[in-house]
Amino acid sequence: MKKYDLIVVGAGALGTFHAYHALLKGKSVLMIEKDSEPMEATVRNFGQVVPSGQALEDWFGYGRESLGIYKNIQSKFDITVRQNGTYYLASDDQEMTLLEETRSLFKLQNYPSTLLNRKSCFVRFPSLNTNYYKGGLFFPDEISVEPKTMVHRVRAFLIQDFGLDFLNNTVVNHCDIEKGICKVQTSDNQRFYAEKVAICSGYEFKTLFPEIFRQSQMKICKLNMMQTFPLPEIKLNGNILSGLSIRRYDSFKSCSSYNNLIAPEWQKPYQQWGIHLLFKQAVDGSIIIGDSHEYADVENNAQLSVSINMEINQLILKEAQKILTLPDWKIQHYWAGYYAQAVDGGIFEHEIYDKIYISTGIGGKGMTTGAGYSKKRIEDIFT
Ligand SMILES: Cc1cc2nc3c(=O)[nH]c(=O)nc-3n(C[C@H](O)[C@H](O)[C@H](O)COP(=O)(O)OP(=O)(O)OC[C@H]3O[C@@H](n4cnc5c(N)ncnc54)[C@H](O)[C@@H]3O)c2cc1C
Repeated sequence: MKKYDLIVVGAGALGTFHAYHALLKGKSVLMIEKDSEPMEATVRNFGQVVPSGQALEDWFGYGRESLGIYKNIQSKFDITVRQNGTYYLASDDQEMTLLEETRSLFKLQNYPSTLLNRKSCFVRFPSLNTNYYKGGLFFPDEISVEPKTMVHRVRAFLIQDFGLDFLNNTVVNHCDIEKGICKVQTSDNQRFYAEKVAICSGYEFKTLFPEIFRQSQMKICKLNMMQTFPLPEIKLNGNILSGLSIRRYDSFKSCSSYNNLIAPEWQKPYQQWGIHLLFKQAVDGSIIIGDSHEYADVENNAQLSVSINMEINQLILKEAQKILTLPDWKIQHYWAGYYAQAVDGGIFEHEIYDKIYISTGIGGKGMTTGAGYSKKRIEDIFT
């Protein structure tokens, strides 16, 4: 009977970076994924790695650590990292004040950023509508990755260089502890054994430990996304975030003027659907545009409609067209992505006898902070 040091359930961003940090420690690892390839939040997102949006007191640190991890792996194996930085664009004076205040807060953390006036915004991004922005804030250290590819490349690197064992098309449907050893069973009746198990199963709450998730108060969040056709004549290098993002992201909530923010009337439907505008140009020149936030309880996932709400998409496109001028707004793809969100906005963690470690519900920050968070979690698991 082969016994692994660690079995990881789920090959999304969290599972993959759990595997990475355990392998770095010299542990033997088996990662099991129910689909032929992971196809949930980890491959449906923007691929923006933006620690500057995270709460300074906790998740910013994991984000900053993640930047180092991504860049380090990229120096050995192409995992699609591009260091083009992040730009926040203020659309009014209140948002501009928040950018100035945030810059001072990040300065205290020795985290580089540059304030941009209207002229420098124009020079960098002539395709932005000049009547949208008052100015911007640029974080040069931040990166983007190709969401459809990154996690597969990291997995290939782990298999090639670290001897990761990977099993796809395999649903883990039972996990318990027998005589001090973890036993993992699959729906096709395979059994695997390990010293420890990490469960990183995203928003799949019914297969393993449903009673724990039922009580977790976690939410499932649905996000609307879209992508243009390739627009090689447009250059939108970097992660582009809008005024609505400044009003939404945690880092800005630490600013003294945050509580004085007044939302103009036109923003009401945007608040109702949790819409803020983000843009990311993919390597093929197409532009990924989103997003919105609709929520359901763990026990009521059918509250999230099967269809994509086109009223939301129209609001997204209307605001996008205020910000950007594109030669062609034809949309190539629409899709929805789903993630689990812990009740306190952080992450849901649960341990069973210091053997089975559940980590999920990282919400909308998994690509930014998952690599750094997983390092800390692997320390928890193996101490
Ligand atoms: C539209 C969208 C945009 C986003 N944009 C960004 C962004 O730009 N930047 C950012 O930082 N974050 C972003 N996020 C958030 C980020 O994508 C998530 O936080 C992250 O991908 C979550 O990773 P995960 O591994 O926890 O979950 P998942 O990606 O859902 O992975 C879980 C995996 O577990 C597998 N699994 C579940 N149960 C079992 C089982 N019983 N047996 C075997 N396998 C199982 C699933 O098949 C799945 O592959 C976005 C999310 C969405 C949806």
